Amino acid sequence: MNDGLKTKLIDRHDRRLNYLRISVTDRCNLRCTYCVPRDRIPRLSHAEILRYEEILRIVRIGVDLGITKVRVTGGEPLVRKGVIGFLESLAGISGISELTLTTNGVFLEDHAERIRAAGIRRLNISLDTLQREKFARITGSDALERVWQGIESIRRHGFSPIKLNVVALKGINDDELIDFARLTFRHPYHVRFIEHMPIGQSRMKTTPPLLVPEIKDFIRPLGEMLPIEKNADDGPAERFRFKGAPGEIGFISALSHHFCSSCNRLRLTASGQLRPCLLSDRQLDLKGPMRAGCKDSQLAELFQQAVRNKPSDHNLAVNDHAGVSCQMSSIGG
Ligand code: SAM
Repeated sequence: MNDGLKTKLIDRHDRRLNYLRISVTDRCNLRCTYCVPRDRIPRLSHAEILRYEEILRIVRIGVDLGITKVRVTGGEPLVRKGVIGFLESLAGISGISELTLTTNGVFLEDHAERIRAAGIRRLNISLDTLQREKFARITGSDALERVWQGIESIRRHGFSPIKLNVVALKGINDDELIDFARLTFRHPYHVRFIEHMPIGQSRMKTTPPLLVPEIKDFIRPLGEMLPIEKNADDGPAERFRFKGAPGEIGFISALSHHFCSSCNRLRLTASGQLRPCLLSDRQLDLKGPMRAGCKDSQLAELFQQAVRNKPSDHNLAVNDHAGVSCQMSSIGG
């Protein structure tokens, strides 16, 4: 960037926003019942989706303003053509201290080596069941075995930590939460239990959703959960370890104990909207101005405007008349 802007992204509530999550596509090879809408929604056309060079330009401007952490997500990032080259370009941007990827793991084995070579060391894999038939029921695809092969492959390639994200779904996988926690006795995985959030027109209603205190009750029989001290780079997860276990468990209580006061995130949607809060549809268009030829300094100003508009907390965002109609797949989970 050559406009010489060096403003930090600090919002009205004194939060320093240094974390950008990028959805590179709204497309996904899975159709998870709780994520994909009941009714078919039109997918973004190629022209509507940000091109890689556009995303890279936005990231460079963000980094100049104080972004240091970047996560690539989707949709399913590994279904987008050219994503590995894009990851390499991202990894080459100086100023990004942490670059991570969230994937459903189905194509991980095919890409593990190149993802690692691109410079990514940390991966999150979303996995909500350890049972083949249930996996097919939740996702619409009989691909559990491939996901496991992917996880084993990234272990062999030395990725660390390997985080398994489990959305706790009442009556669907609550009987398996203990099995996920048990995995940490055998493997160095970080299993993260996540509360199901009311986003978009999910085909599945978990009302009321399973909240972290109940999730903890499911896994308590395994023994005492020893708290792990948080460090500055930790996200919102409350972390624990069972005595002697190589892995750890974590709880993300997005609803029951929300962490808005320390939220450091901005999201860039697949269609080029900068979104200051996951649970509010208020977002700023970057793609339009960019394609109309705006300067870096104007994009930087839009970044700062988004930061100024970040709601103080998501109760406010959910009660906002703007509502939350966007799908997780296009916002980027
Ligand atoms: N395809 C990639 C994957 O599966 O990890 C990345 C995108 S996916 C939308 C990102 C994460 O959002 C997944 O862990 C998914 O389980 C989670 N997710 C989707 N809808 C959710 C909801 N309503 N509440 C909580 N988590 C949700």
